[in-house]
Amino acid sequence: MMEMRGAPVAKAITENCKEKIAILKEKGIIPTLAIVRVGNRGDDEAYEKGAEKRFFGAGAQVKKIVLPEDVSQAELEKTVNELNSDKDVHGILIFRPLPKQIDEAVIKQLISADKDIDGMSYSGIGRLVASKNFKGQAYAPCTPTAVVEMLDYYGIDVTGMKIAVVGRSSVVGLPLAIMLMQKNATVTLCHTKTKDLREECRKADIIVVAAGRANTIGAEHVSRGQVLIDVGINVIDDKICGDIDYDSVVKYASAITPVPGGVGAVTTSVLLKHTVESAEKTC
Ligand code: NAP
Repeated sequence: MMEMRGAPVAKAITENCKEKIAILKEKGIIPTLAIVRVGNRGDDEAYEKGAEKRFFGAGAQVKKIVLPEDVSQAELEKTVNELNSDKDVHGILIFRPLPKQIDEAVIKQLISADKDIDGMSYSGIGRLVASKNFKGQAYAPCTPTAVVEMLDYYGIDVTGMKIAVVGRSSVVGLPLAIMLMQKNATVTLCHTKTKDLREECRKADIIVVAAGRANTIGAEHVSRGQVLIDVGINVIDDKICGDIDYDSVVKYASAITPVPGGVGAVTTSVLLKHTVESAEKTC
Protein backbone atom coordinates (compact mmCIF):
# COMPACT_ATOMS: atom_id res chain seq x y z
CA MET A 1 0.00 0.00 0.00
CA MET A 2 1.32 3.42 -0.96
CA GLU A 3 0.54 6.46 1.16
CA MET A 4 0.31 9.44 -1.17
CA ARG A 5 1.61 12.33 0.90
CA GLY A 6 1.26 15.89 -0.35
CA ALA A 7 4.58 17.31 0.88
CA PRO A 8 6.87 15.81 -1.81
CA VAL A 9 4.40 16.83 -4.51
CA ALA A 10 4.29 20.40 -3.19
CA LYS A 11 8.09 20.46 -2.96
CA ALA A 12 8.52 19.31 -6.57
CA ILE A 13 6.06 21.93 -7.85
CA THR A 14 7.69 24.67 -5.74
CA GLU A 15 11.23 23.77 -6.88
CA ASN A 16 10.10 23.97 -10.49
CA CYS A 17 8.51 27.38 -9.82
CA LYS A 18 11.69 28.67 -8.15
CA GLU A 19 13.63 28.15 -11.38
CA LYS A 20 10.98 29.99 -13.37
CA ILE A 21 10.84 32.82 -10.81
CA ALA A 22 14.62 33.31 -11.06
CA ILE A 23 14.30 33.75 -14.85
CA LEU A 24 11.35 36.15 -14.44
CA LYS A 25 13.28 38.21 -11.89
CA GLU A 26 16.07 38.72 -14.42
CA LYS A 27 13.41 40.35 -16.59
CA GLY A 28 12.27 42.53 -13.68
CA ILE A 29 9.08 40.56 -13.01
CA ILE A 30 8.18 39.24 -9.56
CA PRO A 31 5.18 36.89 -9.70
CA THR A 32 2.62 38.41 -7.36
CA LEU A 33 -0.64 37.06 -6.00
CA ALA A 34 -3.25 39.46 -4.63
CA ILE A 35 -5.27 37.90 -1.82
CA VAL A 36 -8.52 39.66 -0.98
CA ARG A 37 -9.86 38.78 2.44
CA VAL A 38 -13.11 40.19 3.80
CA GLY A 39 -13.24 39.99 7.59
CA ASN A 40 -11.16 37.82 9.90
CA ARG A 41 -12.25 34.20 9.50
CA GLY A 42 -9.74 31.84 11.08
CA ASP A 43 -9.64 29.39 8.16
CA ASP A 44 -9.03 32.23 5.66
CA GLU A 45 -6.22 33.61 7.83
CA ALA A 46 -4.63 30.15 8.12
CA TYR A 47 -4.77 29.63 4.35
CA GLU A 48 -3.38 33.13 3.79
CA LYS A 49 -0.43 32.42 6.10
CA GLY A 50 0.26 29.13 4.30
CA ALA A 51 0.17 30.89 0.92
CA GLU A 52 2.52 33.65 2.13
CA LYS A 53 5.00 31.10 3.42
CA ARG A 54 4.93 29.19 0.12
CA PHE A 55 5.25 32.34 -2.03
CA PHE A 56 7.95 34.07 0.04
CA GLY A 57 9.94 30.82 0.27
CA ALA A 58 9.98 30.58 -3.52
CA GLY A 59 10.85 34.24 -4.10
CA ALA A 60 7.35 35.32 -5.18
CA GLN A 61 5.16 38.01 -3.62
CA VAL A 62 1.76 38.24 -1.95
CA LYS A 63 -0.21 41.48 -1.85
CA LYS A 64 -2.75 41.26 0.96
CA ILE A 65 -5.93 43.29 0.86
CA VAL A 66 -8.03 43.02 4.00
CA LEU A 67 -11.48 44.62 3.91
CA PRO A 68 -13.97 45.00 6.76
CA GLU A 69 -16.82 42.50 7.14
CA ASP A 70 -19.33 45.27 6.25
CA VAL A 71 -17.56 46.27 3.01
CA SER A 72 -19.97 47.49 0.33
CA GLN A 73 -20.47 45.89 -3.06
CA ALA A 74 -19.14 49.06 -4.74
CA GLU A 75 -15.98 49.10 -2.65
CA LEU A 76 -15.22 45.42 -3.31
CA GLU A 77 -15.87 45.87 -7.04
CA LYS A 78 -13.49 48.87 -7.05
CA THR A 79 -10.80 46.74 -5.36
CA VAL A 80 -11.14 43.95 -7.94
CA ASN A 81 -11.08 46.43 -10.84
CA GLU A 82 -7.90 48.05 -9.46
CA LEU A 83 -6.23 44.64 -9.16
CA ASN A 84 -7.32 43.74 -12.70
CA SER A 85 -5.49 46.78 -14.06
CA ASP A 86 -2.45 46.57 -11.75
CA LYS A 87 0.32 45.25 -14.02
CA ASP A 88 2.35 44.13 -10.98
CA VAL A 89 -0.40 41.69 -9.94
CA HIS A 90 -0.52 38.37 -11.82
CA GLY A 91 -3.12 36.44 -9.87
CA ILE A 92 -6.20 37.31 -7.80
CA LEU A 93 -7.63 35.11 -5.05
CA ILE A 94 -10.77 36.15 -3.19
CA PHE A 95 -11.74 34.17 -0.12
CA ARG A 96 -15.30 32.90 -0.08
CA PRO A 97 -17.97 32.78 1.13
CA LEU A 98 -18.35 36.55 1.00
CA PRO A 99 -20.68 38.35 3.47
CA LYS A 100 -24.43 38.50 2.82
CA GLN A 101 -24.48 42.07 1.46
CA ILE A 102 -22.14 41.08 -1.39
CA ASP A 103 -23.33 39.61 -4.68
CA GLU A 104 -20.65 36.93 -5.01
CA ALA A 105 -21.55 36.00 -8.60
CA VAL A 106 -20.91 39.59 -9.73
CA ILE A 107 -17.56 39.72 -7.95
CA LYS A 108 -16.41 36.41 -9.44
CA GLN A 109 -17.35 37.65 -12.89
CA LEU A 110 -15.29 40.81 -12.47
CA ILE A 111 -11.97 38.99 -12.09
CA SER A 112 -9.97 39.20 -15.30
CA ALA A 113 -9.77 35.71 -16.84
CA ASP A 114 -6.00 36.15 -17.22
CA LYS A 115 -5.60 36.67 -13.45
CA ASP A 116 -8.22 34.14 -12.36
CA ILE A 117 -5.63 31.68 -11.03
CA ASP A 118 -8.21 29.79 -8.93
CA GLY A 119 -10.73 29.33 -11.75
CA MET A 120 -13.48 31.29 -9.96
CA SER A 121 -15.12 33.16 -12.84
CA TYR A 122 -17.61 31.67 -15.29
CA SER A 123 -15.24 32.50 -18.12
CA GLY A 124 -12.51 30.56 -16.27
CA ILE A 125 -14.78 27.51 -15.97
CA GLY A 126 -15.93 28.05 -19.58
CA ARG A 127 -12.34 28.08 -20.81
CA LEU A 128 -11.65 24.92 -18.81
CA VAL A 129 -14.58 23.10 -20.41
CA ALA A 130 -13.56 24.29 -23.89
CA SER A 131 -9.92 23.52 -23.18
CA LYS A 132 -9.14 22.42 -26.74
CA ASN A 133 -9.75 25.99 -27.89
CA PHE A 134 -8.25 27.68 -24.86
CA LYS A 135 -5.28 25.44 -24.11
CA GLY A 136 -2.96 27.17 -21.66
CA GLN A 137 -5.35 30.09 -21.20
CA ALA A 138 -7.47 28.80 -18.33
CA TYR A 139 -6.65 28.03 -14.73
CA ALA A 140 -8.64 25.27 -13.10
CA PRO A 141 -9.41 25.77 -9.40
CA CYS A 142 -6.36 24.94 -7.28
CA THR A 143 -7.84 22.07 -5.23
CA PRO A 144 -8.89 19.82 -8.14
CA THR A 145 -5.60 20.69 -9.84
CA ALA A 146 -3.83 19.50 -6.67
CA VAL A 147 -5.60 16.13 -7.01
CA VAL A 148 -4.39 15.81 -10.61
CA GLU A 149 -0.85 16.81 -9.55
CA MET A 150 -0.94 14.08 -6.86
CA LEU A 151 -1.99 11.43 -9.38
CA ASP A 152 0.71 12.53 -11.85
CA TYR A 153 3.44 12.66 -9.20
CA TYR A 154 2.66 9.17 -7.92
CA GLY A 155 2.59 7.78 -11.46
CA ILE A 156 -1.12 6.91 -11.57
CA ASP A 157 -2.23 7.08 -15.19
CA VAL A 158 -6.00 7.60 -15.24
CA THR A 159 -6.43 6.77 -18.92
CA GLY A 160 -9.37 4.39 -19.24
CA MET A 161 -9.82 4.19 -15.45
CA LYS A 162 -13.22 4.25 -13.81
CA ILE A 163 -13.24 7.14 -11.33
CA ALA A 164 -16.00 7.92 -8.85
CA VAL A 165 -15.86 11.58 -7.77
CA VAL A 166 -18.03 12.14 -4.69
CA GLY A 167 -19.17 15.79 -4.54
CA ARG A 168 -20.19 18.07 -7.40
CA SER A 169 -19.37 21.58 -6.13
CA SER A 170 -18.16 24.15 -8.63
CA VAL A 171 -14.96 24.52 -6.56
CA VAL A 172 -13.89 20.88 -6.33
CA GLY A 173 -15.99 17.99 -7.65
CA LEU A 174 -17.32 19.39 -10.92
CA PRO A 175 -14.06 20.88 -12.30
CA LEU A 176 -12.20 17.76 -11.12
CA ALA A 177 -14.61 15.52 -13.06
CA ILE A 178 -13.99 17.64 -16.18
CA MET A 179 -10.21 17.52 -15.71
CA LEU A 180 -10.19 13.75 -15.20
CA MET A 181 -12.38 13.24 -18.26
CA GLN A 182 -9.95 15.36 -20.25
CA LYS A 183 -7.26 12.92 -19.08
CA ASN A 184 -9.36 10.13 -20.61
CA ALA A 185 -10.82 8.65 -17.41
CA THR A 186 -14.41 7.44 -17.29
CA VAL A 187 -15.91 9.56 -14.55
CA THR A 188 -19.04 9.08 -12.44
CA LEU A 189 -19.94 12.24 -10.54
CA CYS A 190 -21.78 11.32 -7.32
CA HIS A 191 -23.79 13.53 -4.96
CA THR A 192 -26.46 13.32 -2.29
CA LYS A 193 -29.11 12.20 -4.79
CA THR A 194 -26.97 9.36 -6.16
CA LYS A 195 -29.10 6.21 -5.77
CA ASP A 196 -26.43 3.72 -4.77
CA LEU A 197 -23.23 5.45 -3.68
CA ARG A 198 -21.74 2.19 -2.39
CA GLU A 199 -22.10 0.49 -5.76
CA GLU A 200 -20.82 3.52 -7.73
CA CYS A 201 -17.76 3.62 -5.47
CA ARG A 202 -17.14 -0.11 -5.30
CA LYS A 203 -16.96 -0.53 -9.07
CA ALA A 204 -14.46 2.34 -9.50
CA ASP A 205 -10.69 2.02 -9.87
CA ILE A 206 -10.20 5.36 -8.12
CA ILE A 207 -12.45 7.17 -5.63
CA VAL A 208 -12.01 10.88 -5.00
CA VAL A 209 -14.09 12.27 -2.15
CA ALA A 210 -14.95 15.95 -1.71
CA ALA A 211 -18.20 15.78 0.24
CA GLY A 212 -17.35 17.89 3.28
CA ARG A 213 -18.58 15.23 5.74
CA ALA A 214 -16.43 12.94 7.84
CA ASN A 215 -16.95 9.20 7.25
CA THR A 216 -18.82 9.67 3.95
CA ILE A 217 -16.78 6.73 2.66
CA GLY A 218 -16.19 3.64 4.80
CA ALA A 219 -15.25 -0.01 4.29
CA GLU A 220 -18.64 -0.79 2.73
CA HIS A 221 -17.92 1.63 -0.18
CA VAL A 222 -14.53 0.30 -1.24
CA SER A 223 -13.12 -2.75 -2.96
CA ARG A 224 -9.64 -4.20 -2.88
CA GLY A 225 -6.84 -2.46 -4.81
CA GLN A 226 -8.49 0.94 -5.29
CA VAL A 227 -6.76 4.32 -5.18
CA LEU A 228 -8.50 6.47 -2.55
CA ILE A 229 -8.11 10.26 -2.58
CA ASP A 230 -9.58 12.36 0.20
CA VAL A 231 -10.10 16.07 -0.41
CA GLY A 232 -12.27 16.64 2.66
CA ILE A 233 -11.19 18.75 5.60
CA ASN A 234 -13.33 18.39 8.72
CA VAL A 235 -12.65 19.28 12.32
CA ILE A 236 -14.00 16.70 14.77
CA ASP A 237 -13.16 17.04 18.47
CA ASP A 238 -10.41 19.57 17.61
CA LYS A 239 -8.81 17.06 15.22
CA ILE A 240 -8.59 17.39 11.45
CA CYS A 241 -9.95 14.48 9.43
CA GLY A 242 -11.06 13.88 5.87
CA ASP A 243 -14.26 12.48 4.35
CA ILE A 244 -12.91 8.92 4.20
CA ASP A 245 -12.82 6.70 7.28
CA TYR A 246 -9.07 6.09 6.79
CA ASP A 247 -8.61 3.38 9.41
CA SER A 248 -11.40 1.17 8.13
CA VAL A 249 -10.43 1.37 4.41
CA VAL A 250 -6.63 1.53 4.43
CA LYS A 251 -6.23 -2.25 4.38
CA TYR A 252 -8.11 -2.49 1.06
CA ALA A 253 -6.41 0.40 -0.77
CA SER A 254 -3.49 0.15 -3.19
CA ALA A 255 -2.83 3.85 -2.53
CA ILE A 256 -4.43 6.41 -0.23
CA THR A 257 -4.01 10.08 0.73
CA PRO A 258 -3.88 10.99 4.43
CA VAL A 259 -5.71 13.95 6.01
CA PRO A 260 -3.98 16.12 7.07
CA GLY A 261 -0.87 15.89 4.91
CA GLY A 262 -2.49 14.87 1.62
CA VAL A 263 -4.23 16.96 -1.04
CA GLY A 264 -4.47 20.00 1.25
CA ALA A 265 -0.69 20.24 1.40
CA VAL A 266 -0.50 20.70 -2.38
CA THR A 267 -3.02 23.49 -3.02
CA THR A 268 -0.81 26.50 -2.16
CA SER A 269 1.93 25.17 -4.46
CA VAL A 270 -0.65 25.02 -7.28
CA LEU A 271 -1.58 28.61 -6.44
CA LEU A 272 2.09 29.50 -6.86
CA LYS A 273 2.37 27.53 -10.11
CA HIS A 274 -0.64 29.30 -11.63
CA THR A 275 0.63 32.73 -10.53
CA VAL A 276 4.05 32.04 -12.08
CA GLU A 277 2.41 30.89 -15.32
CA SER A 278 0.33 34.06 -15.40
CA ALA A 279 3.46 36.18 -14.83
CA GLU A 280 5.25 34.34 -17.65
CA LYS A 281 2.48 35.33 -20.04
CA THR A 282 3.24 39.02 -19.43
CA CYS A 283 6.77 38.65 -20.85
P1 NAP B 1 -19.64 21.59 -0.82
O1 NAP B 1 -19.78 22.80 -1.66
O2 NAP B 1 -20.38 21.50 0.47
O3 NAP B 1 -20.07 20.33 -1.73
C1 NAP B 1 -20.17 19.06 -1.19
C2 NAP B 1 -20.60 18.08 -2.26
O4 NAP B 1 -20.60 16.78 -1.72
C3 NAP B 1 -22.00 18.34 -2.78
O5 NAP B 1 -22.04 18.16 -4.19
C4 NAP B 1 -22.85 17.29 -2.08
O6 NAP B 1 -23.93 16.83 -2.86
C5 NAP B 1 -21.85 16.18 -1.92
N1 NAP B 1 -22.14 15.33 -0.76
C6 NAP B 1 -22.19 15.70 0.55
N2 NAP B 1 -22.47 14.64 1.33
C7 NAP B 1 -22.60 13.58 0.50
C8 NAP B 1 -22.91 12.21 0.71
N3 NAP B 1 -23.14 11.71 1.93
N4 NAP B 1 -22.96 11.41 -0.38
C9 NAP B 1 -22.71 11.88 -1.62
N5 NAP B 1 -22.43 13.18 -1.87
C10 NAP B 1 -22.37 14.01 -0.82
O7 NAP B 1 -18.13 21.31 -0.46
P2 NAP B 1 -16.76 21.68 -1.28
O8 NAP B 1 -16.51 23.12 -1.20
O9 NAP B 1 -16.78 21.00 -2.60
O10 NAP B 1 -15.69 20.98 -0.32
C11 NAP B 1 -15.70 19.59 -0.13
C12 NAP B 1 -14.69 19.23 0.91
O11 NAP B 1 -13.39 19.54 0.42
C13 NAP B 1 -14.82 19.98 2.23
O12 NAP B 1 -14.46 19.11 3.30
C14 NAP B 1 -13.79 21.09 2.13
O13 NAP B 1 -13.30 21.50 3.38
C15 NAP B 1 -12.72 20.38 1.35
N6 NAP B 1 -11.84 21.30 0.61
C16 NAP B 1 -10.51 21.04 0.70
C17 NAP B 1 -9.62 21.84 0.05
C18 NAP B 1 -8.18 21.49 0.12
O14 NAP B 1 -7.33 22.32 -0.11
N7 NAP B 1 -7.84 20.23 0.42
C19 NAP B 1 -10.06 22.94 -0.69
C20 NAP B 1 -11.44 23.15 -0.82
C21 NAP B 1 -12.33 22.30 -0.14
P3 NAP B 1 -25.16 17.78 -3.32
O15 NAP B 1 -24.64 18.60 -4.47
O16 NAP B 1 -26.22 16.83 -3.74
O17 NAP B 1 -25.50 18.62 -2.12
